[in-house]
Amino acid sequence: MNNDWQRHVQSISTSIPDYGFKVKIPQAYADQLLSSDDLDPINLQFLPSKLESSQTGLIDPLDETGKDTPKGLLHKYPGRVLLTLTQACAIHCRYCFRRHFPYQQENPFKNLDDIIDYINKDSSIHEVIFSGGDPLMLSNQKLCTVFNKLSMIAHIKTIRFHTRMPMIVPSRIDADFLNFTHQYPQWQWVIALHINHPKEWFEECQKAMTKLKAARFTLLNQSVLLKNINDNLDTLIHLSQSLWSNGIIPYYLHQLDPVKQAMHFKVHDHKAKSLYMQLQAALPGYLVPKLAKEVPGMLHKTRL
Ligand code: SF4
Repeated sequence: MNNDWQRHVQSISTSIPDYGFKVKIPQAYADQLLSSDDLDPINLQFLPSKLESSQTGLIDPLDETGKDTPKGLLHKYPGRVLLTLTQACAIHCRYCFRRHFPYQQENPFKNLDDIIDYINKDSSIHEVIFSGGDPLMLSNQKLCTVFNKLSMIAHIKTIRFHTRMPMIVPSRIDADFLNFTHQYPQWQWVIALHINHPKEWFEECQKAMTKLKAARFTLLNQSVLLKNINDNLDTLIHLSQSLWSNGIIPYYLHQLDPVKQAMHFKVHDHKAKSLYMQLQAALPGYLVPKLAKEVPGMLHKTRL
């Protein structure tokens, strides 16, 4: 039988053209947050636009394809590895840099022992980042299977999730998930959220953040700077303030990865830098996310 949250990821059905990237929006989220205004910042993030027919941009903007050895694991940065154990997301963001990613057809859990072996052999790895897709689309049972194996490796100190689920399907933050911090007290627990606009908040998400904080998760946010969605000072100020009032540290403001069919979201670097300077002038330093972009081959994010 499905858990409660698994029923809530049921997507709307729609016949609008998807430009090769399926429209996926949970029904409850659509009912609550989609608007009749095509230019609404929620609609623009999740509903396709005919601008996606443009072929400029790159299929694999971060040059990740083929670098996951063993399958399901990416080792891009020193000290941490990225696990991509699911390709599923509850929602499809139209600007996603993995919209063309050729996820392996086979279940990456088949490679779990190889993944664990790789991490075990490299004692410089102290953080395991669960990415995807959205790692909170995995059941608690599957996460527990991975945690049990990781818990045998003494050099792992931190578990981090990159997820939109607490904002899209807040019921995913259930008692069993929250209990992981008690089950594995040896680790620091981090959730890097992905919130781009203050309009994304609704009451259930706020409750989910309160539960996560109480359960000892450190909450960070990574936004993407998106043209006509959040590329103005007022929105960015309100976003940082809304994050802070929900216990979340504004961590990064990313420039768009130049992915094919999403280049209409790109904000030019000079505008991004100007907005960043204005944010610095308007907010205390702890509310100003670092403006950065990813450059393939670099061992860290590149600050702008
Ligand atoms: S939730 Fe993340 S991985 Fe999934 S579509 Fe959105 S940006 Fe891409």
